[in-house]
Amino acid sequence: MLIVFLGAPGAGKGTQAKALAEKKNLTHLATGDMLRAEVAAGTELGLMARAFMDRGDLVPDDVMIGMIKGRLKTPVSGGILLDGFPRTVAQARALDEALDAAGTGVDRAIFFEVPTEELVRRLAGRATCSGCQRAYHDTFHPPRNADECDDCGAKLVRREDDRPEAVRNRLDVYRTQTTPVLDHYRAAGKLVEIDGGQAIDAVQEELIAAVE
Ligand code: ADP
Ligand code: AMP
Repeated sequence: MLIVFLGAPGAGKGTQAKALAEKKNLTHLATGDMLRAEVAAGTELGLMARAFMDRGDLVPDDVMIGMIKGRLKTPVSGGILLDGFPRTVAQARALDEALDAAGTGVDRAIFFEVPTEELVRRLAGRATCSGCQRAYHDTFHPPRNADECDDCGAKLVRREDDRPEAVRNRLDVYRTQTTPVLDHYRAAGKLVEIDGGQAIDAVQEELIAAVE
C-alpha cells in the first residue's frame, strides 16, 4: 500500500502521518524530514537544499525525484506513507513512472483541506522536535514539559521556515506549484478529501475511515 499525503504547509500532514504510521505499521517517509537530516549532517545535498528551504522555496525537482527514487528502492515492511512528496506535477509523474516500473502505484492520495487563516495560526505556533521531528503547538498541542518532546525527550526548536516571511512564500509556492498535483490525482480517481480543519483526533478518525 502506498498512500500520498497532500495539503498546504501546516495542514497537519506530519502530525497525522506519525499517528497513522504507528497504528497501521506503515513507513512514514517525509521529504522535509529527510532534507532537514541532510542539512543537520552538513552533507553537500543539505548545503544546497538549505537555501531553498530557508526561503520557503521548493528544492529542484531533479534533486527531489532522485532522493525519493533512491529511498523507495529500500524494501519496507507494511505500506508507505509519503508526506511532502510529490509537490509538483513533474514529481507526481516521476513517482507514477517509478512505481509503474516496479509494478505498483499510488493507492490513495489524501488531501487535508485547511483554511489559510488556520494554516497561519498553526505555523506561527509550531515547535518541532529536533530528534524525531514530531510537531507540537504552543496552544493546540503543547508538550507535557516545556520545550521537550513527549516521545523522545529531545529539545523542541522553531523551524527557520516558520518565520512569517517564509510562511507567506511557502503558502504562495503551495498555491502555484502544488495545487495542480490535486488535479493529477483527482483525474486518476485517487483523491480523497478530508476536513483537516478539525481537532487532531477528529482528523485522525476521518483519515482512518478513508484508508480502510
Ligand atoms: P504539516 O506537516 O502539514 O506542515 P504539521 O503536522 O507539522 O503540518 O502541523 C502544523 C502545526 O499545526 C503543528 O504545530 C501541529 O502541532 C499543529 N496541528 C496539526 N494538526 C492540527 C489540528 N488538527 N488542529 C490544531 N493544530 C494542529
Ligand atoms: P516540509 O517539512 O514538508 O514543510 O518541507 C520543508 C521544505 O523542504 C519545503 O519548504 C521545501 O523547501 C523542501 N521540500 C520538502 N519536500 C519537497 C519536495 N517534494 N519538493 C521540493 N521541495 C521539498
